[in-house]
Amino acid sequence: MQLYTFIDWFFTIGSLGLAILLGVYVNGAACLLGVFLYFIYPFMMEFSYNLLSVREEIFIRNMPEIPIVYDESYNITACGIEKWHPFDSCKYGNVYRQIRQKVKASHFTPQMLSRGTFLYLGMSKWYLLKMCYSAYASTLIELPVFFLPGAFLRSCLLDSMLLATSGSIYAAKLALEKGWAINLSGGYHHASLNRGGGFCIYPDITLVVNYLKRCCNLKKIVIVDLDAHQGNGYERDFLHDSSVYIIDFYNSYIYPGDHLAEKAISCFEHVDKDTSDQQYIKTLQKDLETHLKDDMEFLIYNAGTDIMAGDPLGHCCISPAGIKRRDEVVFKWAQHKKIPFLMLLSGGYQKENTFAIGESILQLIT
Ligand SMILES: [Zn+2]
Repeated sequence: MQLYTFIDWFFTIGSLGLAILLGVYVNGAACLLGVFLYFIYPFMMEFSYNLLSVREEIFIRNMPEIPIVYDESYNITACGIEKWHPFDSCKYGNVYRQIRQKVKASHFTPQMLSRGTFLYLGMSKWYLLKMCYSAYASTLIELPVFFLPGAFLRSCLLDSMLLATSGSIYAAKLALEKGWAINLSGGYHHASLNRGGGFCIYPDITLVVNYLKRCCNLKKIVIVDLDAHQGNGYERDFLHDSSVYIIDFYNSYIYPGDHLAEKAISCFEHVDKDTSDQQYIKTLQKDLETHLKDDMEFLIYNAGTDIMAGDPLGHCCISPAGIKRRDEVVFKWAQHKKIPFLMLLSGGYQKENTFAIGESILQLIT
């Protein structure tokens, strides 16, 4: 358990206990002191952490045999509450185990990066402070958990997402060294530096881009987003940034329909239930051929699988074979153009997606 988590729970239990003791043994007004402490300490704790935490250098201590980034803590389990959401919150572990059945080579296990690093890469301090409260966080994850202590939400859910966000940044570093890398999570494309939504809290794609530009001196980055939803989070962050080239295929009839963010897209294709595998792959081939230029220095591939037939949120009808072919096409184009390639799993909400993702990754790495 991290020190932050320990302090978090200590003050949660301590302040609630204090409120009860004061209420029972003193009076109702004294009880408010414990309640006040309960509400104010998360703000004070995060504020102090933001103030004191310093930026850390990102480097790979032990180079893995295969550039796959994964930690068991990516999987979200919260006493069954996670089952209220259609998201298969343990797909990362299931994909990892499927890969491990055929590939025994060592992978990379990320560490949680410091707040100072996230702030340096552009995260909003105010947004991080707001995330301390369940009443706000619950609106982003679309679950009615506003009544739960913030510590519960942080240790069961937000820390998993923040670790996966760290994983995306480590994977970018690995991709620069190895030519490609896959983070078995991430792709929170509805989150921007100061706003979340659609089960996306931390803007890992924006943070990766900022890391590559600020710490690795890259000048031209392309994002290929093939999740069924529009990547409006990072698009809002790069509305006026011509160094980030965005290719986004999505179903424009579904969430989020963010017309302001659309202005950041360089190449858009609409996908829906009438789009066949053949049409999809043909269009993708054509667009990559047209838009991947020789001056592009890094490719971030947001490989959401909610375009698969039957997905309750994506409303598309691409087959598992189509998913496999799609990933192969993007991977091959990056290799052909000699652009470092970072793949993020992003959305994909059915149990069946796991097998399709695992099979697709296996074809890329074996
Ligand atoms: Zn999606």
